[in-house]
Parts: sequence; structure tokens; C-alpha cells
Amino acid sequence: MKISNSIFIGLVSLALVVGAIGCKKDKSIPSLTTVEVTNIEATSATSGGTLTDDGGATVLSKGVCWSAQENPTVEDTKTDEGSGSSSFTSQIAGLSAGQTYHVRAYATNSEGIAYGNELVFSTSATLPAITTTEVSSVTKTSAVSGGNVTGDGGSEVTARGICWNTATNPTVDNFKTTEGSGVGSFSSTMAELTAGTTYYVRSYATNSVGTVYGNEVSFTTESDLPDVTDNDNMMLGNPSEAVASEVYANNYLMVKSQYCLSYNNSKETMNWTSWHLYSGDLGSAPRQNDFRSDGTLPSSWYHVTSSDYQYSTYGFDRGHMCPSADRTATVADNSATFLMTNMIPQAPNNNQQTWGNLEDYERSLVDSGNELYIISGPYGQGGTSSVGTFDVLASGVVVPSQTWKIIVVISNGDNDLSRITTSTRVIAVIMPNTQTCNQHPWSYYRVSVDSLESLTGYDFLSNVPADIQNVIEASVDNVSVK
Ligand code: MN
Ligand code: MN
Repeated sequence: MKISNSIFIGLVSLALVVGAIGCKKDKSIPSLTTVEVTNIEATSATSGGTLTDDGGATVLSKGVCWSAQENPTVEDTKTDEGSGSSSFTSQIAGLSAGQTYHVRAYATNSEGIAYGNELVFSTSATLPAITTTEVSSVTKTSAVSGGNVTGDGGSEVTARGICWNTATNPTVDNFKTTEGSGVGSFSSTMAELTAGTTYYVRSYATNSVGTVYGNEVSFTTESDLPDVTDNDNMMLGNPSEAVASEVYANNYLMVKSQYCLSYNNSKETMNWTSWHLYSGDLGSAPRQNDFRSDGTLPSSWYHVTSSDYQYSTYGFDRGHMCPSADRTATVADNSATFLMTNMIPQAPNNNQQTWGNLEDYERSLVDSGNELYIISGPYGQGGTSSVGTFDVLASGVVVPSQTWKIIVVISNGDNDLSRITTSTRVIAVIMPNTQTCNQHPWSYYRVSVDSLESLTGYDFLSNVPADIQNVIEASVDNVSVK
């Protein structure tokens, strides 16, 4: 079939016109819908766009945009999924927990920008964020800390405060404070703490999701121990609360650099003598033997002389409490042990044998790495020497019926008082001031400190915390000794 030229030209013209009309009709902004939001977490979610029409022009950019406000635009936060007319998935990130968001897909072409339908979703809430404040104002029984709630996790903080315990990782089930609600910083005081104890503290904050804890801080309350000096001769205390005043004539405190004592002017002996013994006390100074009166006694009191003991008449040694052999670092130290205020009338078999063996044992403990705190004294009246039994010497010196001693043994070190524990070795003895004392070794005469306290009325080891005293004073040393 032949078609005329005019008809052919007419069809071509129609096609061009239709084509031109068709091209003009196809160009518009794209059409798209927003993909349902899924995978909603605290700070992220998934959406995207389904392109239903590219508007007859190349899609130049596409993605999703979101905001806490309605009708988000590309001026808000958005993703960029590149060009082309394919549908797409977008990861929405950087969201805040517990927040409502509006999201729309978008696509642009040469004709402009198109938005899909708006969807609304809410991120899930999380735990709050909190830090713990450094501990300050530490006393024996209190301390101050606090916290700073830096974020509520998208859910109101309904409780906050600090919690503490003597073990790590304290929780609100331990001790705690409550300090209001909401975000921000707060201060909090811990009270009714135990002195000299290490605590662990954390801040906490609670919202609908749960309770979160801040970083842990540890601190130690001030010590309840008395302010004592290591190696002080009276570090363990003043058993009779002796006073350095002449008014206290029978409980007169005398402090020497080599030893301390409570002097009894009626007995003309000490009530007790207290000293520290460690390797630094043991040197090469020879025994001075310079027995003499103690010029530091009040001048109006009787001063026992080196000859008052009248050995040939009574038969008692001038027995040291702080031994000569415990003070050999210098000549002066050794000489100080020969003051008559350091002496009691002591039966020779007590002094030179049973008692002396214990003194040797003490120094052997020092030689094996220990330091000792020692308290000793006379008790009662009436001792027996090889000459006979005597209550008092001519000058008035009372002859004791027994001699007692307490030795606290700790390994060499610092902060001695704090190192005395319920397992510290304490040796206490009381032995007769007689010539038959040596029928038994010194270890036979071991007793508890409690029994010596009952006997003397003194409180020994009074600087040691009471709960530790209770334990170490009740037991009797049973370490096997030769
Ligand atoms: Mn002696
Ligand atoms: Mn005590």
C-alpha cells in the first residue's frame, strides 16, 4: 500500500507534536513514599524511600531527612543516597535516646525537590549518664562526695545520690543517700562511717530504664588510733595514766629517751616500765654498771641509792626492768638503765635465770626481724632470796612478790600501732620473786594480759583499738620455745 507524501508528512508532524507534548508533560519533580521506620534503637533507626516516578528527569539526589519538628526538610539532618531512580534504604544515626522524630524521604531532579509522606517514630530511652565526684572533707566518720547527671537517657531521672560500702562496686542496696531528681550535679555526705576504714563510693541515677552507676572512688576515713610516734617507749599507752606531777607521788610519770616509767614514791620502785626494743637499740656499748640515784626525781622525795639494796643483808639483785643489754647503742643509753628508778629487788634465780632467759629470748626475736613493745613491773610484797624472805629493804624499798612482763611482737616496719592486729603475738608472764623461780622455764609462767590487768588494775595496750585488745589480751601465748 502506497501512502501519499502529504499523509506521510502529516503523520510525522503529528508524531513530533505528540512527542513534544509528551516530553513536556513527563518532566516534573519525582514522586516517592517514605519507607516504614524499622530497627528503632536509642540513637538509630532505618528508613528509606520508594521512588514511584522520577518525574521524567534524572534523580540527582535522594535520601531521608529528619527532625524533632514536623515537616523535616533537607535543611535538617539528612542522608545522601546518591543519584538515580532506584528506591533506597537509609540508616538514620546520631539520634538522642527517648526522643520523638519526624522523617521524610526526599528526591531531587532538575525540576526541584520532592518529599515523601512524613512518618513519626520515637527512639528508645537508655540509662542516664552520671559521674562520681571526688571525695573530700574526710573525717573519722564522714566524707563528702556527689555526682553529676550529664544525661537522662531520654527518660526523667527520678532518683539519684551516692552509695558506698567497704567492698568494691557498691550499689543502692548498700548505704546510700537520695539527692532529688533530674540532671545536673549534686553533693552528698556520707555519715556514720567507721574510723580508719577504706570505703568505695559510686554515684547512681535511676530512670524508667533502670539504675546506672558512676565511676567508683575509694577513700579511707581518718584513723581512730591515737596520734602516736613509731618506736616511742610508751606507744602502747600509759597503763596507769601516770602524770608527771609531784601530786601524783605514787603514779609519777618519768619519760626518758631510753624508757618510761610510773614511779611509786611509797614503794620506792616503779609501778611499771615501758620500752621499745628493735635492732637499732643493740650495739656495742659495754655494760656501764654505774648504778646510781635518779636525779630527775622530785628533790623532796627519797632517792634510792646504789647501796640501798645491801646485797649481803637481803640477797636481792638490783634487777633491771629495761635491761642493760637492751640499750647498747650508745654508752649514754646503757648508762641510763643503771638509774635506781629502773631497779627492783629481784631474787637472783629470777633475775639471772628465768627472767634473764626471757630477756635473751626477746633479743633473739629482734635478731630475727622483729621489733618489740615491752611493759614490765613488780607486783605484791614479799620476795625470797637466798638469805631469806623480806617485805621491804631498810631504806623503804618494797620487795615484790612477783615480777610480770608483757611483750608485743611485730615484724620490723612502720606505722607500728596500725600493724597490731588480732593475730599479733603477745607474750605475758608473771613469775615468783623467789630462788625457786628457776624450777620452770619462763614459758611456764605465761598468762593472759587480761589476768595481769585484773591483778594490777592497769589497762595495758590501751592505745590499741578495743576490739583488738579484747582478742590479744584474752589469749595466752603458746608458741613452742626452748
Ligand atoms: Mn636483770
Ligand atoms: Mn588493755
